[in-house]
Amino acid sequence: MSAVIIDGKLIAREVREMVKDQIEVNNLSPTLAVILVGDDPASHVYVGNKIRACAEVGIESIERKLPAAATEKDIAKIIDTLNADTNIDGILMQLPLPEHLSDVQESLVQRIAPEKDVDGLTVANAGKLFLGEKDGLVPCTPQGSLHLIHSVTKDLSGKHAVVIGRSNLFGKPMAQLLLQENCTVTMAHSRTKNLDTVCKDADILVAAVGRPKMIKADWVKDGAVVIDVGINRLEDGTLCGDIDYDEVKNIASAITPVPGGVGPMTISCLMQNTLRAHQAK
Ligand code: NAP
Repeated sequence: MSAVIIDGKLIAREVREMVKDQIEVNNLSPTLAVILVGDDPASHVYVGNKIRACAEVGIESIERKLPAAATEKDIAKIIDTLNADTNIDGILMQLPLPEHLSDVQESLVQRIAPEKDVDGLTVANAGKLFLGEKDGLVPCTPQGSLHLIHSVTKDLSGKHAVVIGRSNLFGKPMAQLLLQENCTVTMAHSRTKNLDTVCKDADILVAAVGRPKMIKADWVKDGAVVIDVGINRLEDGTLCGDIDYDEVKNIASAITPVPGGVGPMTISCLMQNTLRAHQAK
């Protein structure tokens, strides 16, 4: 069997079109503020992509750039100003912050007003997701991953979902979303024993580890839906996921490629979250 290749680029474009239509039809003017600290080239590329996506869908964006030497106080001041600015609907602080701020990164994230927290990382939004309250902002990558799963399987009820990785950014919210879909959810991590056996029982397998091609074909159940969140750069410069794609695509019923799978969904869901934050005002 050869798997359906889930086209994340196409589905992400459809989501962006929907956001664009809603903005145009309802004559809305959402605004996203992006805070970028330091000179990390990857962060600059990510922020550039987000700003471009905003322009594409009709979301106004403003950038607040700070030098790598910025202090906690400098960033806190900017967050407070953006929190108080009624024209700003969403605030995104590009992570990670420079190394010298790693100890205060979490407290700065928590300083963002929950109703503007379009990354869904504040305690208030994580709590709402945990309690099943629908009016919170959900982290973008798990939200996008669920959308991709739904593109091939509408009813997830009773399915066994295995999520590998338990980060606050991805694994934990992904597990909560799947639980809300009435999946039986197993969360796996670095201390999980017999991970291959755990994976082999998954109807839906979601990998967010950061280890190239770690999940082999004989770990995957025939017909499973496989979502690859990992982004790994190989020595030859190419990107790959956590799934051994070339092998697993012959076992799975559907699979996301890397690149072109989950990645593009993240930005589209950011657009969606910014629109939601604007509409909830
Ligand atoms: P993270 O915070 O580093 O978490 C990695 C998780 O993997 C941890 O829970 C860790 O377990 C687990 N893990 C590590 N080694 C393992 C092993 N041998 N077996 C089983 N589990 C293992 O990473 P993250 O932020 O969630 O990101 C994970 C990957 O997804 C990265 O490649 C990242 O680049 C990618 N990502 C992509 C997007 C996107 O837009 N496509 C967005 C976010 C993340 P412990 O908790 O026990 O340490």
